[in-house]
Amino acid sequence: MREVVLVGGGHTHVQTLRSFARKPPANTKVSVVVDVPSAVYSGMVPGFVAGQYSRDEIVIDVDQLAQRANARMVSGRVVRVDPKNQKILLENAKEISYDVASFDIGSTVAGLDVAGVREYAVPTRPIGQLCHQIEEVIQKISHGNFQKSIRILVVGGGAGGVELSFTLQNRFGSLGFPTDVTIIEKSEELLLDYSASIRKRILSHAKRRGISIKRNLEVCEVLGGTVVLNNGQCLDFDLLIWVTGPWGQVVFKESGLATDRRGFVLTRSTLQFEEYDNLFGVGDCATLTEAPSTPKAGVYAVRQGPYLTHNLYKWLEGSPLKNYHPQGDFLTLMNLGDGSAVGGKWGRSFEGRWAMKLKDRIDRKFVADFS
Ligand SMILES: Cc1cc2nc3c(=O)[nH]c(=O)nc-3n(C[C@H](O)[C@H](O)[C@H](O)COP(=O)(O)OP(=O)(O)OC[C@H]3O[C@@H](n4cnc5c(N)ncnc54)[C@H](O)[C@@H]3O)c2cc1C
Repeated sequence: MREVVLVGGGHTHVQTLRSFARKPPANTKVSVVVDVPSAVYSGMVPGFVAGQYSRDEIVIDVDQLAQRANARMVSGRVVRVDPKNQKILLENAKEISYDVASFDIGSTVAGLDVAGVREYAVPTRPIGQLCHQIEEVIQKISHGNFQKSIRILVVGGGAGGVELSFTLQNRFGSLGFPTDVTIIEKSEELLLDYSASIRKRILSHAKRRGISIKRNLEVCEVLGGTVVLNNGQCLDFDLLIWVTGPWGQVVFKESGLATDRRGFVLTRSTLQFEEYDNLFGVGDCATLTEAPSTPKAGVYAVRQGPYLTHNLYKWLEGSPLKNYHPQGDFLTLMNLGDGSAVGGKWGRSFEGRWAMKLKDRIDRKFVADFS
């Protein structure tokens, strides 16, 4: 009997579990190790923040998928992997042996070590925790006695920061609270990884909605209720969202594995770790050596699903594996929180309520496919 261990219940592993339920690999015991039993689908989080979705609508029940796949569910946070002895170590001191293991554990957020961030900011990772914290803040503010605008600072002007700025503004607005939203971006422009055409539309909506943008500025320190910027300026906030881009979890570095600069494990195009044939890495937590600048976006983790699943079956059979090559661009759809979205692909862009309907249809279908 071989032991397959899936670590993390991200966008790729949920697909593998679904396939294992339909076609169980022969002579194999499957285990799933997750820190939390349900996975939040990040594409719908801005919609959750806007009040468009309930929490139940945006989660995938990994526990249930594991049961259907007849897999053993192990609760706990993986902190290290010992490839020589083929063991995975958990925070609670448990050890799990494997013949082949795959990691789909996502990412953390850059800059969490900036003074005061852990104490006073709401980071966007872990994403389940982000949802809880946002719910708590909304409860607190809506039951509080706010006489003035709610000052929201969003640190990071990537797609996540942009969507959260628009959707938070909408949510508080719908509850009767005016907001003062500011995005702080360290580069000279927002959405640097996106086309000029998408950026232009977002900037025009930000202007229309009164969302301020501070460029070429970094947060050096967070004090209770105030951030200190690298130009010495201080900005007060009621809610500070930390969405400064993906960063690797410490697991791989601590295990002495080959990683990129940000701590993401390096993988070959077969999705195997550079140094070990019986370890696979997918989604945000892995960087393909052949395509290191592939964005850390859920769409890539989703596309890797069929490749990982195929390669795990083939690895177990001892047959050759398939190579995964990331697509050049992907359909972007950003939720503006007011029932409309801005989208684009291949340098072109579009917007409107129909774009939000399209996003809603795609996202709901993804989640429904696992229920
Ligand atoms: C606000 C926001 C909106 C976004 N919107 C989009 C979007 O619209 N489209 C898009 O393509 N991308 C989007 N992204 C990016 C997207 O979230 C990630 O690229 C995607 O989640 C990566 O998927 P994954 O499978 O790698 O990991 P995840 O979906 O993060 O899953 C990781 C899993 O591993 C578990 N886990 C984590 N650490 C451990 C551990 N140590 N031990 C055990 N289990 C662990 C987690 O609980 C989870 O089950 C967004 C990100 C944010 C923050």
